[in-house]
Amino acid sequence: MEGTGLGIAKGMALTLKHLFRKKITTQYPEHKLEVSRRARGQQFVWRADLCTGCATCAKSCPHGIIHIETSKNGGNKYIVDKIEFDIGRCMFCGLCVEVCPYNALYMGRAYEQGRYSRRLLWADRETLMDPNIQPSAYGHPELEPQIPEQTLLVYDQICKETVGKDD
Ligand code: SF4
Ligand code: SF4
Repeated sequence: MEGTGLGIAKGMALTLKHLFRKKITTQYPEHKLEVSRRARGQQFVWRADLCTGCATCAKSCPHGIIHIETSKNGGNKYIVDKIEFDIGRCMFCGLCVEVCPYNALYMGRAYEQGRYSRRLLWADRETLMDPNIQPSAYGHPELEPQIPEQTLLVYDQICKETVGKDD
C-alpha cells in the first residue's frame, strides 16, 4: 500500500496538522518558561542551620568537587568553616542532595549560569546561602507546592497535542 503513495499522503497530513497546531516555541530569552519543579539546575542551596559537617555529600560526589572544612565545636559537634562547590566540573547528578542525611542540601532551578571564567563557577558559602536562589524539589518533593508549575513543554505533551497519542 505504501507504494501507491499512501505514505506520502500520511506524511503530508501530519505536516498540515503541525502547520495549524498551537505554537510551542517562544521568544527566548525574552520569554522564559518554567522548568520542572524537580529540575536539577546549575545551582545549589545549602542550609547552614541544618548541616552537621558530616561531609557525606562530599564523599558521595563522583567528581570530588565539594570541599568542606570543619572544626570541632566543643563536644562532639562540628562546625563548617568552609564549604565550596566547583560547579564548573559538576555533572548535576544530584547524588550529593540525595545522600544528605539532614536535608541541608538542595539543587537550584536556574539554567543560565554561563561565565567567562571557570573560577567564577565556584560557589562559596555566601553563594550557597543566597536567599534569592529558589531550591528545586529534586530530592525534596515536599517543596513542590511552593514552586511554579512547569510550562516548558515536554515530549509527551507535544505528542498528545499534535498526533494524539502517548508515544
Ligand atoms: S550534583 Fe553530582 S557531580 Fe555535582 S556536586 Fe553533587 S554529587 Fe557532585
Ligand atoms: S551531607 Fe548534608 S549535613 Fe552532611 S556536610 Fe553535606 S550538606 Fe552538611
